[in-house]
Amino acid sequence: MSSILSEPHFHSEEAAYAFVEARIWPEGAVCPHCGGFERIGKMGGKSTRIGTYKCYQCRKPFTVKVGTVFEASHVPMHLWLQAMFLLSSSKKGISANQLHRTLGVTLKTAWFMAHRVREAMRLVGFEPMGGAGSIVEADETYFGDKEHVTKRTKKGKSGLSGKRAIIALVERGGSARTFFVERADKVTVTSIVSANIARESRLMTDESKLYGSALDHVDSHEAVRHASGEYARGDVNTNTVEGYFSVFKRGMKGIYQHCSEKHLHRNRPVLAALRGGRHFPNGVTLSLALRSRRWFGRRFWARSSGVGAGATRTRSGLSRRASLPARR
Ligand SMILES: [Zn+2]
Repeated sequence: MSSILSEPHFHSEEAAYAFVEARIWPEGAVCPHCGGFERIGKMGGKSTRIGTYKCYQCRKPFTVKVGTVFEASHVPMHLWLQAMFLLSSSKKGISANQLHRTLGVTLKTAWFMAHRVREAMRLVGFEPMGGAGSIVEADETYFGDKEHVTKRTKKGKSGLSGKRAIIALVERGGSARTFFVERADKVTVTSIVSANIARESRLMTDESKLYGSALDHVDSHEAVRHASGEYARGDVNTNTVEGYFSVFKRGMKGIYQHCSEKHLHRNRPVLAALRGGRHFPNGVTLSLALRSRRWFGRRFWARSSGVGAGATRTRSGLSRRASLPARR
């Protein structure tokens, strides 16, 4: 039995390009400039870079990198694939620092790669979750201090209002989604439920009032009464989502030790994707990340003002995403 790490696309640049091309262009090369696919030739000259094609319709050259997470990056493709593998194969993710040490790229490059891959993985599964016969559990938790803690408790702790509220939806035996919200209130929670859960699903929560209007959006809503010591009633429980939160928090604490609020939402998709991808062989998670073309037109650069600058989205974009129905 040979190790998955000995696959040629992790070592040879030609094999890496072939691997990516087979996934992005399953039916053959497509020109990213004009959309043509009929008159395309592969450039084979000695001085030509690997994977260069020319479109004879618009006369422009291109590679498979255009419009993907690899665009305008000088990092060799096989290193990108190694990074994607590492980012998607470990259950709790991997930090940019670890990537930097493992791949031998600079920390800045590692940070840049990690964020691009995470951004690409964000797309995984934007269809509604659940469906007829499926159970989706929902719960909320509070984690990490907000950047500006306004109120403190007598003991000087930040208290719940000073922490980031997180809502998670987990389909039993399926994927998970997490939402960082300004405030975990009924309106926000209801909009998340309506935008993300298929109506035919069975929703399970605790007795929290936040889910009071959920029945307007799903056919069935059952709640366990934690306050009166009830943790399961038949198959009604929220154990899956609670287990998800515990992995999630350990992942956040252990790996993303200094994870500022600005970037919390970038690390989150990878954790959610990992949770969802756990039932797949590693190669599938990798392909999911590769297939995402959402990248296009939304470039983002690691600026020189220290690791962390360069986000194209604002924090307010976060809560906006959480409270709007699925965009697509
Ligand atoms: Zn063209």
